[in-house]
Parts: sequence; C-alpha cells; structure tokens
Amino acid sequence: MLMPRPAAAPVRRILDKALSGREVSVDEGVTLFEARGADLEAVVSVADQLRHQTNGDDVTFAVNRNINFTNICYMGCQFCGFAKRMEDKGAEFLSLETIVARAKEAWQRGGTEVCIQGGLHPKMSGTHYRDILLAIKAELPDMHIHAFSPFEIWYGVKKTGMSIRDFLLDLKACGLGSMPGTAAEILDTEIRKVLTRDKLTTEEWVEIISTAHDVGIRTTATIMYGHVDSPNHWAQHLETIRAIQRACRHAEGGFTEFVPLSFVHEDAPLFLKDPSAVRPGPTREEVMLMHAISRIMLHGVVDNVQVSWTKLGPEMAQAMLACGVNDLGGTLMNESISRAAGARNGQEVGENQAPSPQCAEQRKCRPAVHICNCEER
Ligand code: SF4
Repeated sequence: MLMPRPAAAPVRRILDKALSGREVSVDEGVTLFEARGADLEAVVSVADQLRHQTNGDDVTFAVNRNINFTNICYMGCQFCGFAKRMEDKGAEFLSLETIVARAKEAWQRGGTEVCIQGGLHPKMSGTHYRDILLAIKAELPDMHIHAFSPFEIWYGVKKTGMSIRDFLLDLKACGLGSMPGTAAEILDTEIRKVLTRDKLTTEEWVEIISTAHDVGIRTTATIMYGHVDSPNHWAQHLETIRAIQRACRHAEGGFTEFVPLSFVHEDAPLFLKDPSAVRPGPTREEVMLMHAISRIMLHGVVDNVQVSWTKLGPEMAQAMLACGVNDLGGTLMNESISRAAGARNGQEVGENQAPSPQCAEQRKCRPAVHICNCEER
C-alpha cells in the first residue's frame, strides 16, 4: 500500500487511522478540511487509495435525461436561480404528454434513466407525482425513474395529508425507482435558515430520507457547500449521512452515492442581494478536499463518491477522479437547474463524450446503469 505523502503529524495520524479502516471523527474531519500544501496532497492521496480499494479503477456514469417538469415555485430558497412565478417569462409546467415524450426520446437515444424534479408549484395537486410515474411507466416500463427530492416529498405529503411512509410506498408502487437526496444543502439548522428559511428542516430531510430507505427506496446524498458554511458544518454533515446509512436496516435501502455540489453563486438571490455576505462558491482546494474527505469519512459506509460535472466543468470533474471520486453521475440531457443559477457548463454530454477521452486514458471507463444524481436545486 502506498503511504501518504509527507504531512504534518496531526494530519498524518488521522490519515493513518483512515487507512487502517478506523472511523475519522467530526473533529478530525475538520482538521483535514483545513489541510493545505503537502497536507492537502496527503489527504487526496489517501482518498485515492481508499477509492481504489473500494471501486477499483472503473468510473461509472449513467446515460440519462433530466426532466424538470416545472420551474414554478414560491419557496424562495436563497441559492435558487431556477424558480419562477407563474406570470414570469419562461415559467413552465410540462404536461404529462410532454414529460412522456421527453422520456421516450431519451429511451430511443439509449437512455436508461430519467431524473425528474420540479419546483413546488402552488396549484399542483399532491397526486401529480404519482401521475408522472404512472404515465412514464405505461409507455416505458423498463425506464428507471430517479425522481423527487425530499422537499417534493414533503410537499406531496403536505398536499395529500398522507403519512410520509404511505406516500413513499404509493410512489414506489407507481414506479419510483430511486430518489435524489437533494435539498440537503447543509444539514444544519442555522445554515438552513439562511438558505431556505428552514422550510424543509434538517429533521424533516432526515426523516424523509430514512423512511425512503426503510421502505426500500434507495437515494443519493448531497451537500451544497461554499456559501455561508464552514468546515465544521461539512464534517458534521458527513457524520449525519454516515449515521443515516448505519441506521438503515432494509436490505434494498440506503444511500447509493454521495455527491458534493458546489454553490453556484452568479444568479443566486443570496449572492445578488449582498455579495459580501456570501462566498462565491468553494475554492479549488476546497473542492478537492470535499471530494477527498467525503471518501475518507464515508469509507466502508457509502461506497460511491460522485462528482457533478455540471457544477465543475469537465476539466475539474476529471481532476476529481484522483481525489476519491469513482462516479461521474449522468449525461443529463437538458440539465437546467445549475444553468439557471449561473453555471456555465453544458446541457448535455454525448454518450461518447462522457467521460472525456483523457479520462478514458487515465482510467478504464464504462457506461453503467447506475443511479445518478439529479441536480441540486
Ligand atoms: S430550490 Fe426548489 S424549492 Fe427552493 S425555490 Fe428553487 S425550485 Fe423552489
């Protein structure tokens, strides 16, 4: 086994612990997030070794299509440049026919998965989520449907008056294959108050995700970082994800992957209101550390760490393959949420372009039917 590059003693001790399979605590995670220079290189090196132990050299991705069925939403999340009011130019609410047509087009182009999320439209019925699933499955029974964030589940539960468990069981019976663990942002009450006015609380996010796992619906887990947060929030967030996964008792349940999502500031209301009160996304070093420390703290608990190429761009996404990442998510035809917040990266990567040719040289890449991450909102 390769030893970490020279690092300061406290960092080296934590990394030795990780390499020997022992758990890295929240305080130790914070120390790792503060690593720079040789310490940072050592953190990245250990993450890369743990990735190799767990996943070998395969890089996975899904051929999928994003369908954002409505951008109408009044929740007012402060990081969201996606939501529109009903009267706004560009506001849309796709019909079931359009959603099915887009799913069919994806299937014809080799897609195996649709990733469906939308705003919380004030006039939408709580049964609309099941209607979407039934409409797609009627035409495409083998299409994997990865859909509905915990915020949408919260909304459907609120609108229908059903319990979370019954609502999720009904969606599963209607064809829900897995759920994006988006709307997590940072699982910290004070930070959520700034980002979302605490509309979906940490406790509610955890309850919805844990219930999904309990009824056999697998989910991704995300973190959105680089705004008003700090290393302590990041390490605590990873600890929360670890605890949820450990508590999962369902054979089919649990997290499939962890997906760090960097804050895209350009068109986010939080940044536009007061650019001095919020950071313009994470630094390159922080991005490297977030992927690497996710791998280290979740080692043995969540096997896949995914990079979001729509947030970071292809070059940075490729670099993350050496920082503990083994999954590139989806090709995401029609990704629109990151772009609405100002991200510059593409709407689609062709099947032969994702991952990039350089990446294919670096690692053996293969298309995989793999549960992907939908974009953070
Ligand atoms: S993040 Fe989602 S819930 Fe929040 S305002 Fe945007 S669309 Fe609405």
